[in-house]
Amino acid sequence: MTHWLTIAFIAGALAHLAVQFWLSLRQSGHVAAHRDRVPTAFAGTVSAEEHAKAADYTVARQRFGRVEILFDTVLLFVMTLGGGIAALGQFAAHLAGGPSVLAGTIHVLLVLLAVSAASLPFSIWRTFVLENRFGFNRTTPALFVADLLKSTALGAVLGGAIVALVLWAMNATGPNWWLVAWAVWMTFSLLLLWAWPRWIAGIFNKFTPLEDAALRTRIDALLERCGFHASAVYIMDGSKRSAHGNAYFTGLGREKRIVFYDTLLQSLTPQQVESVLAHELAHFKLKHIPQRLLVSAVITFAGFALLGWLAGTEWFYGALGVDQASPSAALLLFVFALPAFTWLLTPLGAAWSRRHEFQADEFAARFSDGPELGRALVSLYRENASTLTPDPLHSAFYDSHPPPVVRIGRLFGPGIGQAGGDVPALSAQ
Ligand SMILES: [Zn+2]
Repeated sequence: MTHWLTIAFIAGALAHLAVQFWLSLRQSGHVAAHRDRVPTAFAGTVSAEEHAKAADYTVARQRFGRVEILFDTVLLFVMTLGGGIAALGQFAAHLAGGPSVLAGTIHVLLVLLAVSAASLPFSIWRTFVLENRFGFNRTTPALFVADLLKSTALGAVLGGAIVALVLWAMNATGPNWWLVAWAVWMTFSLLLLWAWPRWIAGIFNKFTPLEDAALRTRIDALLERCGFHASAVYIMDGSKRSAHGNAYFTGLGREKRIVFYDTLLQSLTPQQVESVLAHELAHFKLKHIPQRLLVSAVITFAGFALLGWLAGTEWFYGALGVDQASPSAALLLFVFALPAFTWLLTPLGAAWSRRHEFQADEFAARFSDGPELGRALVSLYRENASTLTPDPLHSAFYDSHPPPVVRIGRLFGPGIGQAGGDVPALSAQ
């Protein structure tokens, strides 16, 4: 008889596939239907031609995304019920001369390598066909290969280290191993978050401190107004890979940084740079980072507890396509099967992130300039060919940032910047 977990897994994965397809088709349809008319809020700042390009770009990406989703689902079944994880486990044990932490680590790395290799054609197509067609790609084949080699090596070193530690905990620390594994995982994540901006990001990009004197004075004044003693602002050479622009915050403690893509900086006035910076500072000031860390700590705690239980059962392995139980198989099956159930939580995470974005915008309006942030965002949408007319349901399900019309409306409209204004959790669709 087929195990209930097998049925639940297949049903969950297929439902996920269906929902992703349905939302993607909705997004394409909605964007195509609004292709020929620039929304009123953007009339004068976004041309009809730019608006149409954004629509074509969005539709092309959705079409490509649907092929990718289909492929990923097939790959998921091949690796689990199809026996991919089981076969690579035997191969790893053979290589390592029997079951051990080393064999388990090789097993996990082989599976990750197989999955990355299988999705490599998609990555090539996206960079050299899709992005190229819309004039965004600046990655050369040599850079692409160099990136691939560097990220694979980095993944093998960092991934190998954390996997070996977790497998060691599973083998050596008794029935409550999952508590130890969770502690190891959290320590490793925090360490990585701290080390990333300083030690790792530099492997892929060059970061130079923002030195423009006039801009620097303006930024220092802003930092002082917001009560920041010092915060490093860097420019990243994003233009070496793509014409897309962005700004983000990263790091922990003294290592926190705000990073502007050179591509974004070129299209903004000093006042707009200041307002974007104020938005990014808000994510620090309003404690969005510790909040996210705390939630991820709670979620991974629950995840490890669940894994601790499942790994000890006999049926967990067989129900997902592995005959021989092993710590590495438990880890892999858990990571592969979990998204077939957790995708239902995606809209919650997205809504929470949008709430943070609204709060950061409001902070920027208070300490810098709302309308200027609005103008900076319009630049960002225009340069990235982001659609201004997303499907409301697609946006509510996935988007970490509020829909452009709603966000811009708040920045230009009355009420923004007033003290004590309440920020609703969901954008007004
Ligand atoms: Zn933000």
